[in-house]
Amino acid sequence: MVGTDIKKLYGVGEARARSYEKLGIRTVEDLLVHYPRGYEDRGNIRLLCEADGEGKSAHLLTVATEPKSARIKGRMSLLKFRAYDDSGVCEITFFNQDFLRNVFTLGATFRFYGRVERKNNRYAMTAPAYEPWREDAELPPLVPVYPLTEGLSQKQLAKDMKSALTLQSVKGEEDMLPSELRRRHGLCLRSFALRNIHAPESFSALAAAKRRLIFEEFFLFSLGLSATAKQREITEAEPCSLGDYQSLCRRLPYELTDAQKRVAEEIRADMAKGQAMNRILIGDVGSGKTVCAAIAMWIALQNGRQAVLMAPTEILARQHYADLCDMFLPLGIQPVLLCGSMSASEKKRIHKGLSAPDPAERISLVVGTQALLSEGVEFAAPGVVIADEQHRFGVNQRATLAEKNRHSHMLVMSATPIPRTLALSLYGDLDVSLLDEMPAGRQRVDTFVVDESYRERLRKFILKQTEEGGQIYVVCPSIEENEEEETDLSLSDIDGEGRVRRSAPLKSAVGYAEELSKALPTLRVAVVHGKMKTAEKDAVMRNFSSGEIDVLVSTTVIEVGVNIPNACLMIVENADRFGLSQLHQLRGRVGRGKRKSYCVLVSEAATGENDAHTRLSVMKTCYDGYSIAEHDLQMRGPGDFLRTNGEQGFRQSGGVRFRLAELCDDTGLMKEAMSEARLLIEADPTLAEHPTLAECVRTMFAAEQGTIN
Ligand code: ADP
Ligand code: MG
Repeated sequence: MVGTDIKKLYGVGEARARSYEKLGIRTVEDLLVHYPRGYEDRGNIRLLCEADGEGKSAHLLTVATEPKSARIKGRMSLLKFRAYDDSGVCEITFFNQDFLRNVFTLGATFRFYGRVERKNNRYAMTAPAYEPWREDAELPPLVPVYPLTEGLSQKQLAKDMKSALTLQSVKGEEDMLPSELRRRHGLCLRSFALRNIHAPESFSALAAAKRRLIFEEFFLFSLGLSATAKQREITEAEPCSLGDYQSLCRRLPYELTDAQKRVAEEIRADMAKGQAMNRILIGDVGSGKTVCAAIAMWIALQNGRQAVLMAPTEILARQHYADLCDMFLPLGIQPVLLCGSMSASEKKRIHKGLSAPDPAERISLVVGTQALLSEGVEFAAPGVVIADEQHRFGVNQRATLAEKNRHSHMLVMSATPIPRTLALSLYGDLDVSLLDEMPAGRQRVDTFVVDESYRERLRKFILKQTEEGGQIYVVCPSIEENEEEETDLSLSDIDGEGRVRRSAPLKSAVGYAEELSKALPTLRVAVVHGKMKTAEKDAVMRNFSSGEIDVLVSTTVIEVGVNIPNACLMIVENADRFGLSQLHQLRGRVGRGKRKSYCVLVSEAATGENDAHTRLSVMKTCYDGYSIAEHDLQMRGPGDFLRTNGEQGFRQSGGVRFRLAELCDDTGLMKEAMSEARLLIEADPTLAEHPTLAECVRTMFAAEQGTIN
């Protein structure tokens, strides 16, 4: 699909096209899928006396006085007039827009939208949004708010979107989803969906639009994965039929868990076949994935093949190297480490060892970083290739690794526990193994769900823990107060029936730290968040690690892999804003050492009967990542996983950028879309009979190409 150049739109020139480019928008089609991040609720008209003085609100006001302009400070000018409704009179001010004098004519009525201030019994609005109001013409109830970039305003974008929508309705393209399928699943037309996601006629039209577009994303995604899986089925590989891994297990200081035994069998069976293994092993942090990887490696080695393990960072690679040395040296195998930081001569020596034709000179087991992907790395007899922390690699890197090792078996490992159903859907191109059992003897982190009324008691608890020498994490959902220009309604606030959910104000990390320092001045409190420079972040983390900080307040971006065994309390503010799986991961940061550890989830919704409370209560009784993920899936839908694992998660692992699927709260919808996709691929494996769909799938998966570095 070539697409229509964005400059074809009336009024879009070079400059604006460059701004659009920054948002990744080059064509009219790109623009149409630049969805709003939220909406202004302008349909909810209030009286002046009902304005709360804080948020923005919509008011129907009639102009009562002629606008007067006044010059201030040289070039600046002010335009002022009064307008009224049944409850009061409001003074309205605009800056440097004298021409508006001709717009706000006496007696005309407008829908104003903005913050209403109350100054000694008078109302005032400054530079509100305005739309002329007429009895016979309805104004749109919801006005979209878009993600923007420099050189682009909401107004311009909305105007261009309108032209784009007109253009596409004129073109009248055929819907990519067959009508039969749309009917079966009650999906609206794409053209209707696009129109209503950008300019909703009503809440219910918006809900229908969202549903259709989410279905479409899951459908295309699944088509892509199923097609890839079909292709892989025919990749041959060297069968590794000698599969005695007991010799390795006997030397371990522990017995494998049942889950590990099951996974080991799955791997053994895969590798014995003449078809390449393509498996993902998903297991919570600490579930013992490394030994499963070692088993796969040992099987390859016994069959005279090489084993390769790739980790995303040098630290992790070194850790694996140490673990594998423990396991393999007693078996007479010397693991080798390959990292980018090594000297050129050392690397060269290793490259030679890896490609050596003579098995006696050959390196049989190598652990490394992305350096394993670099040119010059050739394997003489690759048997199994394993990628750890799968989320850090995209499908394309996986492909590079597979390409380098054609006909070798492949295992990827991920530490994000997700429910089996979701795993099967999201990793449709891979076979899935779950390590859903923890080795015995791990500490349970006692978990409490509390509300604001516990604030004082919580402070005392913080004090007590630190006085005993423990350290504390506090996680807040935002960095600073009002960091994002709030919209009335975010797209995720609209549920399947078009109803609106609302939520409590967010605690900010910066504000929290100030508050806590004031309340407990003896504590050493520090903040770390994603907007800080890497060096600053590292410095804070080092200080926390060395015990110079008692309380670390942060957003969720605490460095991956931080391990502070002395930390014994995790407090999460606005806990209802987080996915349960995310809470589980956060909780996993404490209880790593000898100290008895606790997790406190603070939420407005902590008391009474409500969904958020029910959801959070799961954390009190459930300590295993899978059952937690399963609960989360049932209660919040698959979008939560896509969203909360977004940055490093499925968006990259699946290799696609989801636009709306992250808002999906309906697991059924996802399953329907994915099973339809699989049916279609069975009937038409190469999509030869569905050229439009084939093109859409290519576009979706091509988006990743540029994102891998
Ligand atoms: P992860 O899945 O996070 O990679 P690891 O493989 O690093 O987990 O294992 C975490 C720790 O658990 C290691 O110290 C490992 O030796 C230990 N371990 C693994 N399997 C078992 C088991 N079956 N019983 C007891 N300890 C185990
Ligand atoms: Mg690991």
